[in-house]
Amino acid sequence: MEKFDVLVIGGGPGGTPAALALAAGRRRVLLVEQGAGLGGTCLFEGCIPSKILHESARRLQAIQHAGEFGLRIPVGDIRVDWPTILARKAAILQHRSQSALEHARQLPTLRVQFGRAALTGPRSARITPRSGDPFEVEFANAIIATGSQPNRLAVPGVDLPRVITSEQVFDLERLPENLVVIGGGPVGVEMAQIFAAFGTRVTLLEAGRRILAPVDEEIALALQARIVQQGVSVHTDIRVNEICHTGDGAFVKFHDHTGAPHEIYGEYILEVTGRHAMVDGLGLEHTSVRFDPHGIRANAMLETDEPGLYAVGDVIGQPMFAHWATAQALALARRLLGHPTRFPTPAVNTAVIFSIPEVGIAGLTEAEARAAGHDVEIARYDFRADARAQVAGHADGLLKLVYDRATHLLLGVHMLADGAASTMGEAALALSAGVTVEALASSIHPHPTLSESFGLAARSVLSRASHGEPGNSAAPGSTAVSAPETTA
Ligand code: FAD
Repeated sequence: MEKFDVLVIGGGPGGTPAALALAAGRRRVLLVEQGAGLGGTCLFEGCIPSKILHESARRLQAIQHAGEFGLRIPVGDIRVDWPTILARKAAILQHRSQSALEHARQLPTLRVQFGRAALTGPRSARITPRSGDPFEVEFANAIIATGSQPNRLAVPGVDLPRVITSEQVFDLERLPENLVVIGGGPVGVEMAQIFAAFGTRVTLLEAGRRILAPVDEEIALALQARIVQQGVSVHTDIRVNEICHTGDGAFVKFHDHTGAPHEIYGEYILEVTGRHAMVDGLGLEHTSVRFDPHGIRANAMLETDEPGLYAVGDVIGQPMFAHWATAQALALARRLLGHPTRFPTPAVNTAVIFSIPEVGIAGLTEAEARAAGHDVEIARYDFRADARAQVAGHADGLLKLVYDRATHLLLGVHMLADGAASTMGEAALALSAGVTVEALASSIHPHPTLSESFGLAARSVLSRASHGEPGNSAAPGSTAVSAPETTA
């Protein structure tokens, strides 16, 4: 029976970087991926396909608003060429998956096997290749990086052909005229806005009282208003009861918070109600690994209850982001290679929701910071008077810095702005370096850029402190600025 130092199960943003890093450190690694290529949910059904659609949607909107920028374009002639968008997507996915495989092939101690892995004991597994005979392997350590799969509602009709999940939405044969999106989380919001931008009539149904439950409330509500302005019909605080088939689509039957019944037609019903760990058929019953509805139980060092078995990424539950899975994987690989390791903590994680405008999140929300025992203050920045936002024609949005009142240590960054995604790298660095608002204020941010807002919000804290004043915002415990102090 062949023996490996490390068996990695799952070739997504968790498993692949772990396998590459361990093999670069000369460990004998077997990476098993049940799909046809490396990249996981992120590449084939998640981050990348959704951002390819988002890019097309943003470019379409830019053309539609070109007149505001003094560009005369015959808007009536613009059409969404769905097959070309899908062909572009396929080419990008193929290229990225191939690059990952080529990288893997350069590492002599790494074997990539396309097929399914199932544990047969704490140190052994059975591999069923996509073609060929099954075989058994032994290993010293294993990393479970099998990701997650879409949740399904427990209501009649979810299995109808016109009810789809994120696994099918990126391969629809044609652009639907009507779409009902069930679920107002990050994926539901992104999909609702993208399809609405393409001209689809979109209804967004959310069981909670507002969209994006874990996001700062002020930011989520401001975005919800924007989604409604965009023409999406948003219903919150509802309960879906049933989905019924009709000739060319389906009806979603739901109750609103008063108990009143409603019925909405969609050519497709996109159910995006969260995800759960992928542990089916993994053979965990042959080990001491424990899991619950949140995923495999793993401690801060990513150890499961079975010594030598580790788990990273979506399979251990929230937060479910590609960069988070990769950060965990790289930290774990360092540890297994015997290097000193700092494991990532949610307090320094970042996230972006590619809504329109984008939501950027880094570190703790106000509520999370308070729950962690901090005496919290907030500095705010309003993009209405921001130079870059005005130039770009998207002069609305909000930045909130969450910081500790006594130490001025930055605890969180929350932003709603067109382009917020690209600024979160700075927020990530600031949080992981443990900077204060003073340090943020004293770093020189180029003008006119969105990142300038970080410095301006931080400077508002300092001017408030130097004047011994409680700040200029309406909200207690917060400071606010709305325009650059020194720049044009
Ligand atoms: P996965 O990427 O799911 O990889 C797990 C792999 O394991 C899969 O390839 C699977 O085939 C394989 N596998 C499972 N079981 C077995 C087995 N028994 N044997 C062999 N192989 C197995 N995150 C972001 O950071 N940014 C975004 O913009 C973003 N957008 C998203 C949009 C959508 C629509 C969705 C659905 C998700 C999005 N995500 C995004 C989340 C991101 O895709 C996941 O957090 C990320 O893919 C998790 O990585 P992972 O390696 O843990 O799991």
